[in-house]
Amino acid sequence: MKVLAILYNGFKAAKAEPRLLGTVENELGLRAYLESQGHEYIVTSSKEGPDSDFQKHIADTDILITTPFHPGYLTKELMAKAKNLKVCVTAGVGSDHVDLNAAVDRKIQVLEVSGSNVVSVAEQVMMSILLLVRNFVPAHEQAISGQWQVSDIARNAFDLEGKVVGTLGAGRIGHRVLQRLVPFNTKELLYYDYKALPEEAEKAVGARRVEDLKEFVSQCDVVTVNAPLHEGTQGLINKDLLQHFKPGAWLVNTARGAICNADDVAAAVKSGQLRGYAGDVWNVQPAPADHPWRSMRNPLGGGNGMTPHYSGTTLDAQQRYAEGTKQILQNYFENKPQDPGNVIVGVGKYESASYGQR
Ligand code: NAP
Repeated sequence: MKVLAILYNGFKAAKAEPRLLGTVENELGLRAYLESQGHEYIVTSSKEGPDSDFQKHIADTDILITTPFHPGYLTKELMAKAKNLKVCVTAGVGSDHVDLNAAVDRKIQVLEVSGSNVVSVAEQVMMSILLLVRNFVPAHEQAISGQWQVSDIARNAFDLEGKVVGTLGAGRIGHRVLQRLVPFNTKELLYYDYKALPEEAEKAVGARRVEDLKEFVSQCDVVTVNAPLHEGTQGLINKDLLQHFKPGAWLVNTARGAICNADDVAAAVKSGQLRGYAGDVWNVQPAPADHPWRSMRNPLGGGNGMTPHYSGTTLDAQQRYAEGTKQILQNYFENKPQDPGNVIVGVGKYESASYGQR
């Protein structure tokens, strides 16, 4: 079979660090395995436009491996050209870069390595909340640029203790974020999700479910987004919803960039309506140099905690999602059942409640 992987370039770093498995250079560690089984393995980062390797090879690829960090956008149109395609594997979590409805129609399976990087992201959420609330970035900028003006930082620095923190989405990541927030003695922990957490889990973190989204955001000092990107979450955080946030709230989004309207969020940060926004996910990746989230700042010169998409691709996470990808391929080749938690689209139907019509 022909297996095509769209990964990001690691260049010198990947040559020096073999644990950067998710790179073009290190090929998810799959080459020896795939070739020993007689498969052809093509790995590339070239993914945009009709002359890209992605578009060239997709025509006769049987298995496509992509990653959310450098997403190969598998549109309905591209899928129509992919005559042999049977399986898409996401090396990581979040398969919104694949047109899932089209995959259902064309009976192309979509699997991901569920849980592989959820701790990595939950830790990034904690870091992002703290760096916004404590106004870390401008303080660090002072330190490395030779300045020293404590009042300029302290005038917009707060404690997390005593604040209300809420997660939009209380699945694997959202729940882990709630667990990690417990020792911070917040005033209250809230969550908004389609379904309630199991009673025990809810009790253990002491979180309260709020069933109305506007009510939920209006009660939070900090909102963290931990839901997948789908028809129901695309552009969910926009000008209208932002009006219901507490004035000066902080927003952290490590889920998917397109859950937020980029211009509306940037405007809210610039006006101070949001005190800050942090995350690692962008509506297009790589993000263009002039993306408004690169340069936005609040009126006091802080409030921007953006990074490139890396929270779920720590070296620890890469090991887990590379192993998980191999396991999915092995199961497929050997006709063994897949871990049900990994199946987003089965043959001709959604297998995960997270995507598709609800
Ligand atoms: P998960 O276990 O499936 O949890 C997602 C939760 O969000 C589920 O409880 C889901 O409910 C809920 N949800 C879905 N739509 C919602 C909505 N409109 N409002 C409120 N809740 C909603 O997924 P996870 O492992 O926690 O991952 C969450 C997302 O994080 C992924 O889909 C991915 O986009 C992102 N992620 C980012 C990175 C990174 O590197 N930045 C890495 C991993 C994951 P149901 O189960 O009822 O659908």
